[in-house]
Amino acid sequence: MIKIDNKNHIIPDSSLSIKSENSIAECKRCGTCCKKGGPCFHVEDKMLIEKGVILIKYLYTIRKGEPAYDNIKKCLIPVSSDLIKIKGRNDSWECIFFDEKDNSCKIYDKRPIECRVLKCWDTREIERIYSKNRLTRKDLVYRVEGLWNLVEEHQSRCSYDKIRHFVKKLDGEKKNEAIERIYDILSYDDSIRELVVKKGKMDPENLEFLFGRPIVATIRMFGLKLEKKDGKYYLSPDKL
Ligand code: SF4
Ligand code: SF4
Repeated sequence: MIKIDNKNHIIPDSSLSIKSENSIAECKRCGTCCKKGGPCFHVEDKMLIEKGVILIKYLYTIRKGEPAYDNIKKCLIPVSSDLIKIKGRNDSWECIFFDEKDNSCKIYDKRPIECRVLKCWDTREIERIYSKNRLTRKDLVYRVEGLWNLVEEHQSRCSYDKIRHFVKKLDGEKKNEAIERIYDILSYDDSIRELVVKKGKMDPENLEFLFGRPIVATIRMFGLKLEKKDGKYYLSPDKL
């Protein structure tokens, strides 16, 4: 499986060691790929979510513009559209649907397309589909009254392009203003999550799908650390 680590490094299928260790011609259902990270979703998988086979709470979004490591270009580049992925179990890479006891997939008959086409011994098919027809939050949330507006507003106010813009200014004359704008973004990111949970009665487990991972965590990709004291954020001084 293609995995994305906590610095958003996309690790290609060829990282599956089984390919070099064994010469196999069919899937042994060993689970190695499932332990290395869950799939990204494509339009073909939409019905799995709409029919409730895979619940939103098991998903998270890498938002459009969020940096991810491009293994071809060997650097972090912004993703061109949302990537919707299955969460890992307990902060590990292991797909949440992998059943360790049986070494099997709990949704095997209804697993997403990437899982179905993945052949660790021949990655051509998954490479062919990987960037095509990616499912986005809009595909899933557009018709939910009020909710899509919130997602759009959050994306506009807390876009990674904006964060990137202000992070670049941290080395310049307008550093203090840039710090304030980053705090504003963090504050909005926090408050919208709180709002939809408290007022909208949203399951908090759905937040990483709706608004991506909290910026307080992903800001590390920009070489910054944040601490929260008495309800206020403080950027770590090493980059300032
Ligand atoms: S594709 Fe099949 S054989 Fe290859 S790592 Fe995955 S489960 Fe194992
Ligand atoms: S959905 Fe199933 S087949 Fe796909 S990575 Fe998860 S456990 Fe493996």
